[in-house]
Amino acid sequence: MKIFEKLAEYRYEQIVFCHDRQTGLKAIIAIHDTTLGPALGGCRMYPYASEDEAVVDALRLARGMTYKAAASGLNLGGGKSVIIGDPHTDKSEALFRSFGRYIETLGGRYIVAEDVGTSTEDITHIQVETSHVVGVDVTHGGSGDPSPLTALGVVQGMRACAEEVFGSTSLDDRTIAVQGLGHVGHNLCKLLHEEGAHLIVTDVEEEAVERAVRQFRAKPVEPDEILSMPCDIFAPCALGAVINDETIPRLRCRIVAGSANNVLLEPRHGGELAERGILYAPDYVINAGGLINVADELEGYHRGRATKRVMRIYDSVKSIIAISKRDGVPTNIAADTLALERIQAISSMERLHTGHPYGQRFRRRETL
Ligand code: NAD
Repeated sequence: MKIFEKLAEYRYEQIVFCHDRQTGLKAIIAIHDTTLGPALGGCRMYPYASEDEAVVDALRLARGMTYKAAASGLNLGGGKSVIIGDPHTDKSEALFRSFGRYIETLGGRYIVAEDVGTSTEDITHIQVETSHVVGVDVTHGGSGDPSPLTALGVVQGMRACAEEVFGSTSLDDRTIAVQGLGHVGHNLCKLLHEEGAHLIVTDVEEEAVERAVRQFRAKPVEPDEILSMPCDIFAPCALGAVINDETIPRLRCRIVAGSANNVLLEPRHGGELAERGILYAPDYVINAGGLINVADELEGYHRGRATKRVMRIYDSVKSIIAISKRDGVPTNIAADTLALERIQAISSMERLHTGHPYGQRFRRRETL
């Protein structure tokens, strides 16, 4: 792979290869952009088929984090790390401590969190070696399960969309179809039920469906029926790529707003939703509650402050809708514009201003 060409393509700042023969550590840290602040992103552990695949994954995920943090109003940049290995068989305390030491060498330019294949226990080992870590256990002052705040953020995004489409932020009496009743989906149903919404729900786990029916008087449907249910809002909270050529003609909603990542199979599907008059709340903005929650640990976790910040997802989605109208582009493109405009505004300011909210925890780009 021509790595510098890859880095130039989307203006990545840095890629770090970490190798420790003794512990078997093979890790890659990708830092995309630190204009707004230190690069924060999870550490994924996965048995990648090749080193190229691991590099591409780290780069792709790091860039996504830049957009997510920027559009969410966080003073953070985008980064991500991957450990090449099987999370079921290759984990050890020594491996994560070794990785923690590598993170420490970056002096705060990269802040790690947990991700697919890593857990709070792994983070606890990393934390022994570096303070540039979030998502630590609640017993160590961490923020704990992010899903209630992710769900709250989804509700806020729904309100912004409802205001645009129905003229009111209220979700009372709205019919909302929720796909997936896991950590976020269940919390989301709880909030929506309290608000007076009518719920249609599905999950592949029968128990999860039964619980929602019992607790929230939700109407259960089969997993393959949820997309074609007549409703005001379709909330994907299970899988990615649910909006595609096959599913778009089946939708009978006015809004798509849920927690799932990578909801659109391809970016063009955002345009196709818009053409059908369906308002799409971009996934990485509406599901940023978890990131906002975990990022709060950088200031000493405060649940009230994190909640207040998550409430602002309403404003982010409103801004995206405004940009979408201003530029005549679908909302998924407008979300990228919101992120880029913020990064550009701050990077032009950088020449005059050298202070930073996290002070010495983060060494600025120009001093490298
Ligand atoms: P989860 O694993 O707890 O829940 C997912 C649920 O979806 C499970 O109950 C599962 O049985 C169900 N499911 C799987 N396939 C399905 C199908 N075909 N039809 C219907 N249901 C199906 O995950 P989660 O933490 O609730 O996250 C849900 C989504 O939101 C994921 O895409 C995740 O990446 C994203 N997300 C989560 C958070 C968070 O704070 N947990 C933050 C940002 C984004």
